[in-house]
Amino acid sequence: MKLTLKAKKPLVSNTKSFVFKPEKNINWTAGQYLIYSLSHKSQDLRGKMRFFTISSSPFQKHITITTKIIKTASSFKRALDNLKIEDQIEAKGPDGDFVIDNPKKHFVFIAGGIGITPFISIIRQLNFEKKPINVNLLYANKTNAVLFKKELDGIAWEHKEFKINYYISPKRIDENALAEFIKNKKTVFYISGPDPMVDGITKLLFDLGISEENIKQDYFSGYKKI
Ligand SMILES: Cc1cc2nc3c(=O)[nH]c(=O)nc-3n(C[C@H](O)[C@H](O)[C@H](O)COP(=O)(O)OP(=O)(O)OC[C@H]3O[C@@H](n4cnc5c(N)ncnc54)[C@H](O)[C@@H]3O)c2cc1C
Repeated sequence: MKLTLKAKKPLVSNTKSFVFKPEKNINWTAGQYLIYSLSHKSQDLRGKMRFFTISSSPFQKHITITTKIIKTASSFKRALDNLKIEDQIEAKGPDGDFVIDNPKKHFVFIAGGIGITPFISIIRQLNFEKKPINVNLLYANKTNAVLFKKELDGIAWEHKEFKINYYISPKRIDENALAEFIKNKKTVFYISGPDPMVDGITKLLFDLGISEENIKQDYFSGYKKI
């Protein structure tokens, strides 16, 4: 399907959102991703395909990619950044099971940097649907420039059951941070971020006795660290 670029929004630090209008309505569940194809000149070895979570929420109808554009960005990211309003990009999907089935459960969402994208989509959708947000969000970031912080804090203000802990480097999400959540055996842990972070937290959770069926992972392959 074709997506048409409608807006580019610089966010904190080197992150940006790209807002697209799909050629026809897409039904997706908050937390899912699309696979994008963007043909461009002087393509590097990483090619023209990328996975990006839909950081907008289903009620918003539009498709938003939120990503980091660094100085040494790939040719794909440079081409994305150079798109003009009304330019088009190809996408396939939606796909992915990093979604929540029952909002009545208790969740611990663990995000590393840009790994916040599926969580903001899920949390914003729950807020829109006036559903409980039974979530403890543990959000690690390199600096104080925390993506979607204002929006998240605003939602937490409205939903007393939704709690956020920020971990700004050198503070890390460690055993102590996770320990208080292991007593409730029904809690489901969702982890999203760069591969080393997802693997590290998964190991910590296993060491703390959390079973595999209560852990869901979203690997943002392509990023080395937060
Ligand atoms: C299901 C899923 C959902 C995802 N959702 C998102 C999302 O919402 N937002 C998001 O930003 N990303 C997301 N990602 C990751 C995304 O697909 C890209 O892999 C990531 O953004 C890196 O993009 P890039 O390859 O264009 O590299 P860049 O971001 O431009 O660079 C990233 C790093 O890779 C290094 N690098 C560049 N070229 C090479 C190379 N040829 N070989 C080795 N290293 C290199 C750079 O130096 C830099 O450190 C998701 C991935 C998956 C699988």
